[in-house]
Amino acid sequence: MDILDRAQVADSNFLEQALAVQAEKFGKRQGISRKRCLDCECDIPEARRIAVPGCERCVECAEEIETLRRR
Ligand SMILES: [Zn+2]
Repeated sequence: MDILDRAQVADSNFLEQALAVQAEKFGKRQGISRKRCLDCECDIPEARRIAVPGCERCVECAEEIETLRRR
């Protein structure tokens, strides 16, 4: 039981470290999310900035860009 417990602790530590390294790499690659929209300069909601790393526009403007790209 002791060995298993230790293995689980080591596993979770490893996982946490791996996730932290990934988050760091991902964050550096994607850049930091803007607090204000590039187009309309309204505040970008915190939830969106976390969900979309490196996002530059609010939902409305991002959707507009998406629509324009599809045409
Ligand atoms: Zn906007």
